[in-house]
Amino acid sequence: MNGVIAPTPYFTVALVAPGVLAVFGLAFLWAWSIERKRNYLRLLAGACFCFGIGAVSQAMMLPRDIGHNALFSGAFHTLAVLLVSEGVLRRSGRKLGLAVDIAVFLAVIALLWWFFYVSRSVVVRVYVQNFSYGAVLLATAIMLRPLAKGRYVDRALFWFLLFFAVLFFPRTLLTMGLQDLISVQEFASTRFWQVLQLSLAIFGSGLGFTILAAALTDVMDDLRRERDTDPLTGVLNRRGFEDRAAAALRRGAAGAGTGTERGTGTGAQAALVACDLDHFKSINDTYGHPAGDEVLRRFGALLRETARAGDIIGRTGGEEFLVLLPGTTRAGAFEFAERVRQRLETLAIPALGPGKTVTGSFGLTERQGSESLQAMIERADRRLYAAKTGGRNRTVAVELSSLMRA
Ligand code: GH3
Ligand code: MG
Ligand code: MG
Repeated sequence: MNGVIAPTPYFTVALVAPGVLAVFGLAFLWAWSIERKRNYLRLLAGACFCFGIGAVSQAMMLPRDIGHNALFSGAFHTLAVLLVSEGVLRRSGRKLGLAVDIAVFLAVIALLWWFFYVSRSVVVRVYVQNFSYGAVLLATAIMLRPLAKGRYVDRALFWFLLFFAVLFFPRTLLTMGLQDLISVQEFASTRFWQVLQLSLAIFGSGLGFTILAAALTDVMDDLRRERDTDPLTGVLNRRGFEDRAAAALRRGAAGAGTGTERGTGTGAQAALVACDLDHFKSINDTYGHPAGDEVLRRFGALLRETARAGDIIGRTGGEEFLVLLPGTTRAGAFEFAERVRQRLETLAIPALGPGKTVTGSFGLTERQGSESLQAMIERADRRLYAAKTGGRNRTVAVELSSLMRA
């Protein structure tokens, strides 16, 4: 190729991958500009641009000197692979680390230098680059194997990465194995080079698309979590509670008879506990609103500590909370409410001063057949009201006519 303009097909194919990657690079930068705390998006944008620079330098023979070109494009390709790896790892709170990055980078460049200037072999240089890239990406996929059990987008990312990594080995062996004598001048028009460009464009854009989808899913999940969470207590807000509780009841109805969490109920079984702090207005009036907030925070924490995994807790009003206990009978729910009530009674709240505690009233109900969440809430609220009128600091699990004093 020595300074001569490359033949058209070679040139066109050569610019497909960098063109596609430039678009992905811009997409990652755009995603990062939406949420700047996701720094891994900048690493991925950097990976796209580095790969693009490496590919363009190879295609256009810039720099012109073949040795310089091999090292220059090799450096940018290696940097691109390391940035992809660090980018997807950091998304999951992991990393290869700068020391490993530098070691891999220097090792690849040293080998490329050696097999150009000391013992010239384009075949060995191709093996060095492709096998080290395959190894780095394979190690990355292995480190990310928990994603294989995650959300759909995480699973797609894991398998795409693994496939992309593994492909470096057979692709290199097969295409190089099929070549006869090879010279640097001929290399760019070999089948290897064209298969490499095509498969990199296809799988690279597939991988890029999956990573972008994963990043956008992360952003949406965060926004949804924020939308559904009460910032003061960390439990769900009304909207979040109603969504999740209704979904749990639907799941319970679908899996009726398949077993239970608390041992006595069936799959369709569920209980609902309504809680309301007693004389909360006077706590605000006496100790101030910030002290009232502290009481709410501690009560939220108490509910979370007392509940089991799978129970759904929401703050549905100022000092009103609902807890849905899937797979639980009325007896199980009564036990839960009483445990919370007794713990609250003795819970020290520093903001109120030594010895001062707060009490709460509880009303609960068991699900009748496949009734709606709303029907359960209305009945639990009636019993909560009965607990209030009955003197507060108590749990009511039956209708008004036959009060059950804790
Ligand atoms: P009862 O025993 O009958 O439940 O009486 P109560 O005073 O607890 O009930 P009431 O509904 O009269 O008062 C609720 C109070 O909760 C009134 C409101 O100012 C207060 N409140 C609502 N939201 C918040 C909040 O986010 N922080 C604080 N500190 N207070 C809140
Ligand atoms: Mg109250
Ligand atoms: Mg209230």
